[in-house]
Amino acid sequence: MASHEPRARRAARPKRPGTPPLAEYRRKRDFARTTEPSGAAAGTRKRPRPLSFVIQKHRASHLHYDLRLEWDGVLLSWAVPKGPSLDPSVKRLAMAVEDHPLEYADFEGVIPEGEYGGGTVMVWDRGTYTPEDADMGPAVAKGALKFSLHGEKLQGSWALVRTGRRGAETSRSWLLIKHRDAAASTHDIVTEAPRSVKTGRLLAEIAIDEGGDVTKAATGDPPDAIQSLLQDPTRLQRRRRRKRAVWHSNAGAS
Ligand code: MN
Repeated sequence: MASHEPRARRAARPKRPGTPPLAEYRRKRDFARTTEPSGAAAGTRKRPRPLSFVIQKHRASHLHYDLRLEWDGVLLSWAVPKGPSLDPSVKRLAMAVEDHPLEYADFEGVIPEGEYGGGTVMVWDRGTYTPEDADMGPAVAKGALKFSLHGEKLQGSWALVRTGRRGAETSRSWLLIKHRDAAASTHDIVTEAPRSVKTGRLLAEIAIDEGGDVTKAATGDPPDAIQSLLQDPTRLQRRRRRKRAVWHSNAGAS
């Protein structure tokens, strides 16, 4: 499976030279237990097309927003505890995490408790993005990315800047910052637009539909949204289950 590498890749990956793509991603997960994609189908696509991005709201041990940018056949990933801010004066911490497979961008559901990242995952925003540099590789290595998002919630120009001393290869801390442009505002986007762009669901509704920990998931939703759900349960946004969804009947799991 690792032997299809000789094909020249689109760009060098200066981030972790010598490491097979997705090795860390796969090492952390048991694909017999989680419905997250294994990335087996990952690879560079030959057809030129816009690069995709996704932000997944993830109520794991802590709530965070995973920002993922497609580059060189994988999704470069950062965990943003407070989520993005449209206010250019606000810098949001973004911790670099392992690359994810491209198929991960479509993942919404429940990771079983006890597994890596156990909790509820929502596709909070998605779309395409345009990097300012034609080759993102050197920009990632340098720790300074500029890009424009064309999402359903997020638009306009953004920056990701690595913090810490220059040349500090080990620093996983970055800052996510909105540039000043027409899409900048002081609206609290994470509170005002809390639902999935894929299914319209809140975290609690995803957990209800897919056998997750509803109480835990609900702590990631805005309290007033949960209140109106409790007052009128018919508002539950349900969606047809995908045929290939796997159900984990974790008996006894909280
Ligand atoms: Mn996460």
